[in-house]
Amino acid sequence: MSLKYIDEYRDADLARLLVRKIKAESHKDLRLMEVCGTHTMSIFKHGIRSVLPKGITLLSGPGCPVCVTAQRDIDAFVEFARKKNVIVTTFGDLMKVPGSGSSLAKEKAQGADIRIVYSVLDALGVARQNPDRQVVFCAVGFETTIPTIAATILAAKGEGVTNFFVYSANKLTPPALAALMETDGVKIDGFILPGHVSVITGTNAYRATFEKYDIPSVITGFEPIDILKAVLILVQQNETGEKALVNAYPRAVSDDGNAKARAIMNQVFELTDATWRGIGTIPASGMGLKQAFNAFDAAQKFNMDMPDTPEPAGCACGQILMGLKTPEACVLYKKKCTPMTPVGPCMVSSEGSCAAFYRYS
Ligand code: SF4
Repeated sequence: MSLKYIDEYRDADLARLLVRKIKAESHKDLRLMEVCGTHTMSIFKHGIRSVLPKGITLLSGPGCPVCVTAQRDIDAFVEFARKKNVIVTTFGDLMKVPGSGSSLAKEKAQGADIRIVYSVLDALGVARQNPDRQVVFCAVGFETTIPTIAATILAAKGEGVTNFFVYSANKLTPPALAALMETDGVKIDGFILPGHVSVITGTNAYRATFEKYDIPSVITGFEPIDILKAVLILVQQNETGEKALVNAYPRAVSDDGNAKARAIMNQVFELTDATWRGIGTIPASGMGLKQAFNAFDAAQKFNMDMPDTPEPAGCACGQILMGLKTPEACVLYKKKCTPMTPVGPCMVSSEGSCAAFYRYS
């Protein structure tokens, strides 16, 4: 199947053909995890769950950056907002995520200077425009956004900007997949691997996980045909037992990915342990600023080291991110927790599985 134009990836006849093939070839109950929040939204938006055989369960994994951000990091963002002379810059999704006692939205309502930006470059712009203020950027991203953050820090250094700081809660995808496979109770028969992240990492980044756990894995794009094709490949691999790491998104992803973007990322950041909501601490799964860039490290500048705090009582966000529960199994879903009154980040983020279930199911 060789397609060229985007509308071909939404072709209804081709989608029907793929669904027929999936139904014809699927004989086992399968639990397939889409690792990327954008896949989650696309799956719901295009009604893909409703056309698959009942035995195929799609699980939303730890691929929504806001959702996997630990409670202590949300608390740190709130603390920054409470500091005098600080402007907090953030992507909009973080605003309503509840921390232990407050959220950025509540702090803003009480007068804190918090500005929603669409890019980390905008945050640097805020710093340039406010030389007498200290500007903190709340960085929650994966391989897709970390290179841009690194490039912005290099730009700030080059320009001699001294009032721009980054709090890095950035994370890497492959270590989370390995951590999931090591977790008791987690049962996954195949990964639908993220398209955007893989543009940077390349297919090779997943090879070690694939080889260690012998788990069917397919990188794919975000159109319905991309996703159905990935499901079909995973079904076929599970039925035949011939497992493989497949790049079904060659129009964007190569084996080696974007080496230049990774070089910029590695120039500024280094591997650190990171705390993931629900999963806990995963060694070498985060990206902290290298010593040479300490001057831009918000955690160091403000001596910010918040204690670990548990998830909100009753919130199953962590278990949902590991595929152990679905949002409907959370006791707070659609009762205490709604998009207007979110209890956990999975209901806040536009890529969160609880928000997706609420909106589409
Ligand atoms: S419905 Fe709300 S409380 Fe329940 S898991 Fe999702 S975000 Fe947490």
